[in-house]
Amino acid sequence: MKIRPLLSTVLACLPLVALPATENPALLGYDAGTAVTQREWERKFQEGVSADHIRENMRRLSARPHHVGSAYDKDNAEWILAQFKSWGFDAKIETFQVLFPTPKTRVLELLQPTRFRASLREPALAADPTSGQTAEQLPTYNAYSADGDVTAPLVYVNYGSREDYEALDRLGISVKGAIVIARYGEGWRGIKPKVAAEHGAIGCIIYSDPAGDGYFQGDAYPGGGWRSKQGVQRGSVMDTDYPGDPLTPGVGATADAKRLSIAEARTITKIPVLPISSGDALPLLAALGGPVAPKDWRGALPVTYHVGPGPARVHLQVASHWDIKPIYDVIATLHGADEADHWVLRGNHHDAWVNGAEDPISGQAAMLEEARVLGALHAAGWTPRRTVIYCAWDGEEPGLLGSVEWVETHVADLQKHAVSYLNSDSNGRGFLSAGGTQDLGVLVSEVARDIRDPETRLSVYERARLSGIAEAKTPQERSDLRKRADLPIEALGDGSDFTAFQDFAGISTLDLEFGGEEAGTQYHSIYDSFYWYTHFSDTNFVYGRALAQSAGTVMLRLADAPFIPVDYAPQAEAIGKYEAELETSLKQSQDEFAERDLEIQEGVFAATVDPRKPSLPPPAEPVPPFIDFAPLKNAIGGLQRSAARYSRALATYRAQGSPTLGAPALKKLNADLLAVSRGFLNANGLPERPWFKNQIYAPGAYTGYGAKPIAAVREYMDQRQWTKAEGQVPQVAKAVTNAAANIDKAAEDLEAALAP
Ligand SMILES: [Zn+2]
Repeated sequence: MKIRPLLSTVLACLPLVALPATENPALLGYDAGTAVTQREWERKFQEGVSADHIRENMRRLSARPHHVGSAYDKDNAEWILAQFKSWGFDAKIETFQVLFPTPKTRVLELLQPTRFRASLREPALAADPTSGQTAEQLPTYNAYSADGDVTAPLVYVNYGSREDYEALDRLGISVKGAIVIARYGEGWRGIKPKVAAEHGAIGCIIYSDPAGDGYFQGDAYPGGGWRSKQGVQRGSVMDTDYPGDPLTPGVGATADAKRLSIAEARTITKIPVLPISSGDALPLLAALGGPVAPKDWRGALPVTYHVGPGPARVHLQVASHWDIKPIYDVIATLHGADEADHWVLRGNHHDAWVNGAEDPISGQAAMLEEARVLGALHAAGWTPRRTVIYCAWDGEEPGLLGSVEWVETHVADLQKHAVSYLNSDSNGRGFLSAGGTQDLGVLVSEVARDIRDPETRLSVYERARLSGIAEAKTPQERSDLRKRADLPIEALGDGSDFTAFQDFAGISTLDLEFGGEEAGTQYHSIYDSFYWYTHFSDTNFVYGRALAQSAGTVMLRLADAPFIPVDYAPQAEAIGKYEAELETSLKQSQDEFAERDLEIQEGVFAATVDPRKPSLPPPAEPVPPFIDFAPLKNAIGGLQRSAARYSRALATYRAQGSPTLGAPALKKLNADLLAVSRGFLNANGLPERPWFKNQIYAPGAYTGYGAKPIAAVREYMDQRQWTKAEGQVPQVAKAVTNAAANIDKAAEDLEAALAP
């Protein structure tokens, strides 16, 4: 195999020039003395991380397909286990038994007006050596699709969001009894069959349009890095009720767990679904008649996009082997010296859809290098204050199976002991992005100031901050960013292994990734390979090294800080913004529906619609009533006061020269800090989604991936159920008040420790 010269070897030998210490004088959570030793260990750690080791980890882990249930998935887990043990971790594999469907039958054919049979395969490429491992590759499919055999007219539904179906309604087009074809993009793929079924469709095809990640973006693989006409995005289409094993919601999928029947599992789709390439989609889209698709529905295939229905008529057949398969989570522990019962957790998944060089091995390879160097520090005399736990998750791709089942199994212990969970998944070239709970925002910003961007030699903090300003949409947003002394931390919903920690267990969470400058993507394809990654992404693994340095330094800070390095001011500010967004959204709906009503009465739609291209006016909607947000606003006001009180205590601590606190004071303070984020939980969960306990951080039921903060209220608002939305306000307010009370306790502890 021909690979690029090892530029990383050269870079790794360059002396690491320290960033000016004045940029970052104090360390949150550290007394002055400990901070000095800490910086020495951190410097050793950062210097120890090797890009070449990350490359070799990737070569090994992505050498063969390693999906759930495959031989190499288990082989990788055992190899990872052996690595952790060799680095001095107390490591083991925890096994769960999960429902994991694999393809039995896949047929897609166009029957009218012409005949075409979709290939449903990604061919091997001579340039990409692992693409020829056909015997071990999972065929292209969407996991947790219902079995079905349907024949019906075809309708193009754009991304298949709820808004897209409203547009179809206005065109007078129904998908009842039809098979829909949706393009990938705009939210979680599992939403597409869910919404299609809710509108009466009987089958769903999802394709990769070249406008999204193919030749419209850049040269296609293997000449360039973008998805070729034959590239297919596999992926789970599990419904959004709960993540994890469909048969064991809320409890660990241990061998003897009580299981639902497959028929009872609410997260399996209602209709059959199949993903296809743009090459397979082209004849289907070309055969559609009916109205020309709205302008922003058109992709980059060489046809005029029509909506249908028909005359294209298609036959879709999907059947799976519904097997229970073992998954292997590798759990590796370094026991803490002083606070062994407080856990700092770190994770990245190891399973992939196929070879998965980028997703997830780019993250896994960096995490392992991080753990190797921590092991080396340990051998050289460093022992963490708290217990450090590294987790290599299995089964993330089908539905966060490994992390969800593990958290469900250990939730009582986690809620007692877990300080935080730091996640990564895929990594690439570019800017640091940090998502999670904003109580960790000051910490991650401090660390990002200490890590150098490998290509520009700016700190990764500065580069992320300036890219934020470049991308800001309004002058207000830009000026807000310029005023900040920390990186804004984006709220997370779901989409990777942090989900159960944050949404189910109420644990402070971070997710780190570099990206934005890769030359393409082969997401969930056989071409997401070592060859692709080393030619089109972080080719010399310097951003892998930057990820290991950043995440590892966050781990060191969290593990060693005499008191847990959190600051609640950015979080209280963010939650205030989420509440303000609820009010803005309500006002927008009120204005929009009032205007719509007026225009209907004035006859605006009747007068402006082209009589030859009939479309219906949007349906009149009653103007939403005012919602009483007062209980929530009062609670958030209280939270902001409590957060400010704790920040003031931190400032006093620094003003006093960051003195060493006594063991009893630290014990009380840390116990109270650890409890703060549990306050945001409500044991009953969100209405209609009881698995999601966190009242601030959750994904949307119809968007997925990104956060829908304050989902209990916001989800009902988005569904125009205003009374139900208002009914949720007190419950969220109560959770916010609980968290504020916990912060007050911590503030009191720190104030008492500092009192003369
Ligand atoms: Zn992943």
